[in-house]
Amino acid sequence: MPEAAGAVRAGAAAPACGLIARDRGLLWHPYAPLDGDAPYAVLGASGTRLTLGAADGTPFDAVDAMSSWWSAIHGYRNPVLDRALLDQAGRFSHVMFGGLTHGPAVELAERLVAMTPDGLDHVFLADSGSVSVEVALKLAVQCQLGRGRPRRTRFLALRGGYHGDTFAAMGVCDPVDGMHAAFPSLIAEQLFLPRPPAARLVGGELLADAEALAKWVGTLEDTVARHRDELAAIIVEPVLQGAGGMDAYAPGALAAMRRVASDNGLLLICDEIATGLGRTGKLFASDWAGVVPDIMCVGKALTGGYLTLAATLCSAGVARAITGSPLRALLHGPTFMGNPLACAVACASLDLLAASGWEDRVRGIRRGLQDALKPAASLGAVREVRVLGAVGVVELSGPVNVPAVTRAALGHGVWVRPFRNLVYTMPPYTSTPADVAEIGAGITAAIREVHG
Ligand code: PMP
Repeated sequence: MPEAAGAVRAGAAAPACGLIARDRGLLWHPYAPLDGDAPYAVLGASGTRLTLGAADGTPFDAVDAMSSWWSAIHGYRNPVLDRALLDQAGRFSHVMFGGLTHGPAVELAERLVAMTPDGLDHVFLADSGSVSVEVALKLAVQCQLGRGRPRRTRFLALRGGYHGDTFAAMGVCDPVDGMHAAFPSLIAEQLFLPRPPAARLVGGELLADAEALAKWVGTLEDTVARHRDELAAIIVEPVLQGAGGMDAYAPGALAAMRRVASDNGLLLICDEIATGLGRTGKLFASDWAGVVPDIMCVGKALTGGYLTLAATLCSAGVARAITGSPLRALLHGPTFMGNPLACAVACASLDLLAASGWEDRVRGIRRGLQDALKPAASLGAVREVRVLGAVGVVELSGPVNVPAVTRAALGHGVWVRPFRNLVYTMPPYTSTPADVAEIGAGITAAIREVHG
């Protein structure tokens, strides 16, 4: 359907057209009405390319600018991950985790403890990012209970934050963007700090306005001083807020949250679900501030985008408080906890990450995006272009015409999924310089064509 799309695939138009027709009105898609814009059908995916079909045309290849929402860091049909999945399927695909354990879960937990900052020693294997956030919140409340502070059940979060779609996770998302008003009686009222001052990458460092930061830290200190006795933890996306606007904030704000949390008996929860595993240029975004949280969530890229899996890690101190309490156990245990297929692929994905020279790759993607997106900065509709690690963002002055920009980008052979006023990309780490250049050029051309 996009006229100038890269390689056109003959012969597969009918399946795409049929699938899309059968999907419409039957399946819900993320944050979309049942009769919303027609999706594109995925007919194949390999390396950094998706083969897509539209309702009314010939299938075509597009370079993937999204890593399937931060997850497919090693690209699609990666032979190492395919092998790990098949090997584990040949042993067993799933067993309950109650009363049983298995190699993939133990090996994954050992890897996670070894690779996360020192001090995170215990692992809960959850079945999605949102669930890992629920577990993090439970850990914090149970820890406070175990420390003899049963009234500490609330959370301090950031405006512009996003932590998932289940109810407790929604409760710590930005109250407006997080649509709290839609579920008034189901969402606990939490406390929010203003967004910390924005930071921009200058010569490899994330810099922010010092005066604005000092003022923000003052607000943090006042808020915690007033609410200390009811707060269990501070929960944040470290340094880069994703769904809230793809914007980086001062690492000094994260360091201040660590200090203020420790001084006041609160825990610090870092939600690294989007930012973890190298995406921001550091292995974990908390590393930008040299901060070690008490609880950390990882997900998305954990299985290289193959299967849904997330992990919540906690410190020995948190674990001790819980095991020393009358409850003793952490009160959570989903059916698919520690799914062996997902754990086996995650082990292979983490090994691949370690062996892949991810730091150089992410640095190369950053440079490529900085060059390729530079022309977008001079477009009339564009407010700002910013790049952090392997995340490139073009912020428009007004809302993006999502279907039109998506279609226009596909016309240039690029799969991108804008939201609100943002056209952004976080390509697979396996993207070549040519892929990155194509992504930047496609995004720029699409914005120019649709918004001027
Ligand atoms: N936290 C953050 C920072 C996220 O970006 C997301 C997903 N976009 C989640 C939590 C929720 O993860 P999931 O979609 O796997 O439930």
